Amino acid sequence: MQSKEVRSKFLSFFEGKQHQIVASAPMVLKDDPTLMFTNAGMVPFKEFFLGNKKVKYSRIADTQKCLRVSGKHNDLEEVGKDTYHHTMFEMLGNWSFGDYFKKDAIAWAWELLTEVYGIDKNDLYVTVFEGSDDADKLAMDQEAYDFWKAIIAEDRILMGNKKDNFWEMGDQGPCGPCSEIHVDIRTAEEKAKTPGKDLVNMDHPQVVEIWNLVFMQYNRKANGGLEELPAKHIDTGMGFERLCMVLQGVRSNYDTDVFSPLIREIETITHSKYNTDETINIAIRVVADHVRAVAFAIADGQLPSNTGAGYVIRRILRRAVRYGFTFLNTKEPFIYKLVHTLSKQMGEAFPELKSQKQLIENVIKEEEVSFLRTLEQGLVLLENIIKNVKGKVVSGEKAFELYDTYGFPIDLTALILSERGLELDEEGFETELQKQKDRSRAATKVATGDWIHCHDTDEEVFVGYDTLKADVKITRYRKVESKKEGELYQLVFDQTPFYPEGGGQVGDKGYLEASNGGVVYIIDTKKENNLIVHFAKGLPRDVEGTFKAVVDEKQRARTAKNHTATHLLHQALRTVLGTHVEQKGSMVHSNYLRFDFSHFSKVADEQLKEVEAFVNARIREQLPLDERRGISYKQAINEGAIALFGEKYGDSVRAIRFGESMELCGGTHVENTADIWHFIIKSEGAVAAGIRRIEAITGDAAKEYFVEKVEAFNEVKAALKHAKNPVRTIGILQDENAALKKQIEELMKEKAKNLKGDLKKELQEVNGVHFLAKKVHLDAAQIKNLAFELGGEMKNLFLLFATQDGEKAILTCYISKEITSEKLHAGTIVRELGKYIHGGGGGQPFFATAGGKNPAGIEEALERAIDYLKETN
Ligand code: ATP
Ligand code: MG
Repeated sequence: MQSKEVRSKFLSFFEGKQHQIVASAPMVLKDDPTLMFTNAGMVPFKEFFLGNKKVKYSRIADTQKCLRVSGKHNDLEEVGKDTYHHTMFEMLGNWSFGDYFKKDAIAWAWELLTEVYGIDKNDLYVTVFEGSDDADKLAMDQEAYDFWKAIIAEDRILMGNKKDNFWEMGDQGPCGPCSEIHVDIRTAEEKAKTPGKDLVNMDHPQVVEIWNLVFMQYNRKANGGLEELPAKHIDTGMGFERLCMVLQGVRSNYDTDVFSPLIREIETITHSKYNTDETINIAIRVVADHVRAVAFAIADGQLPSNTGAGYVIRRILRRAVRYGFTFLNTKEPFIYKLVHTLSKQMGEAFPELKSQKQLIENVIKEEEVSFLRTLEQGLVLLENIIKNVKGKVVSGEKAFELYDTYGFPIDLTALILSERGLELDEEGFETELQKQKDRSRAATKVATGDWIHCHDTDEEVFVGYDTLKADVKITRYRKVESKKEGELYQLVFDQTPFYPEGGGQVGDKGYLEASNGGVVYIIDTKKENNLIVHFAKGLPRDVEGTFKAVVDEKQRARTAKNHTATHLLHQALRTVLGTHVEQKGSMVHSNYLRFDFSHFSKVADEQLKEVEAFVNARIREQLPLDERRGISYKQAINEGAIALFGEKYGDSVRAIRFGESMELCGGTHVENTADIWHFIIKSEGAVAAGIRRIEAITGDAAKEYFVEKVEAFNEVKAALKHAKNPVRTIGILQDENAALKKQIEELMKEKAKNLKGDLKKELQEVNGVHFLAKKVHLDAAQIKNLAFELGGEMKNLFLLFATQDGEKAILTCYISKEITSEKLHAGTIVRELGKYIHGGGGGQPFFATAGGKNPAGIEEALERAIDYLKETN
């Protein structure tokens, strides 16, 4: 069974059980402070489990792109070493939101596996939560046990502990016991030797978990306690690649048609052979896996970077480069070449891979080039460490520095050291790593309290498109404490005019006024799992009361100007540069806007001017806002609206149109483009390979900009004594200046020539050497010239010149080559005499200089020079 068919059979099976089929949500998360990536199929539905949003469908099924590389679920280090964990994988899932529970979930899973997919019942085992006698004091899941007992032999039902059979999304939130389904795909011979049930949950590569049925029935509170959820839910997750392995009769996920085209391509490019040597196998698997994760992340809009999610993506790619470098002997970028195969193979199910192929290739290639450079540099640094190591052990600190400052992989350090018969102090390294982690954790630690509910409501309503003031009630609040921001309160209202940060636009600020006049300031507004959360410095005295919520009008108005201008800029870029331009990032602030987009070369000045003029023309046209809420996604797209990839859109959307510009957008906008007043591009530059960034201003900021420019120009004019034509006047000054410079140079040359004659007369003969130590008023280059010219004209010369340049002192020593010796060594002399001028230096035996910061010491240094010519016995 081809993987395509495996996927479609799953979805049609649950469609037949009245499930709504939905598309995969993005893999990179935008509004979840607790999670960077979707790490399980349930993540896009968190808002329903948490009760923040009312469900539209009580039964859903889908396949979801997941990434497990950070936080609670992190499989990164396993990937490649085993044959059934990936960084990025697809999770097939079916959901019930307060609808069916354990009985149907169990029966349907069984029906699908054994009847639709035809897996042999004798190869399946299931697990049930055995209960726990820790603080949670949970009973065994008898219910699940009984439902299983009705369909499977009892000796195939195994008891599982909390680690394996109690699923938790994170430290807080919905959780519950689970039942896993494991499959044994060993040969009959192997099965006869060891019973499968002894290998369940024992990390055996052919006895693996394929499906987890989670029974969400509790909520984990901040204090660690559990409370029953008002409604019970089903959350299941089946590893798509593992299922393909089982159904295609192979023993590794990498032997399925999901991975084999990539593996063939890696073999061809790197001239290696899969299934020959285990270290090569691992490296090939790492590359095949990681290119998927990185490509999907980039398509989702997450570029590799230095922080946060971008850094995680960078690390995955670097891990692949490093395995290729060491084990497949690839010293040139090659991973980007795999994107072609990947997009051919998966582009149908995930069209973003096709449409963004070139960008993905460019970004990966650039990352590869730069990391290969890092590796080369790191190797040099490591050589240095090896050369200087005392004994056999390289300290953890040294290795950590290499890792932390230069990005050199620690396992590569360990490998190279062992090849050289040396050892790495791994414990020391771990200590350093831990210290660093503690430091950053302490800096970002946030303690979040439980929600305290004050008023019951259905669902919070956003009214901020129509009004900036509203009467609100606080429905719930909680306290958060972070090292960075101190103590804050998060408030949720029954309705709110406050726009929460999103779509690049900053969150609203404002205040909350109680009926008795007390005011609490709202310093920011953010969305968290679809809940609009207001951040306040304090809590109103009477939280149960009614308040007037008021948005800061000025900030909102400035922000709206920048948001509308962003749409016009997007349109302008697509008109001037071409429709290959896609939005890759946007920041709409009250003071400025920033727009990232795909384009493969610098935007020429002419084009920038054209873009700016285009936007300003739309402003002059006074285009009115045409806003449509609640139209269907399909209709909006058919009418030509632009949707952004990596955004999660519902069935009904909001479309914003100004003339020919039409985008799906949740942000706030001006009523008419004329409100923007004027648009000015401040800068254009590169963000990454194939991604450019434009920063621009509008409205008040543009006015201020003009005022500043005019003021600065007036100052220039005043400095030029109000010249009629300042540009011409500056040109004349510049020419004059150049001519004067040239004259000075000539004069200095002349002066040096005269000086040479004078100095010659001052030479003293000491023990057969022509000696002179003197302060001169020349610069370093001139002194050097002078010394060498004198040296060319006479033998047995020992010169020490000093000069002062502001707060600095410079000593220059010249000694004729024929008389240099261990004692008469210019390098040594300036180093020793350098101490009088509080500095140091060095050079060759016949010529050396030293610089210092104590000109007052010059006299003494000059006096001491003669000592070098005195006999010492
Ligand atoms: P395992 O113990 O094998 O790591 P898990 O307990 O972490 O699995 P769940 O969190 O229950 O798995 O995820 C549900 C299903 O997703 C699993 O049954 C498995 O089929 C699949 N799965 C989990 N992690 C991975 C991964 N890293 N790569 C591929 N598939 C995975
Ligand atoms: Mg796992």
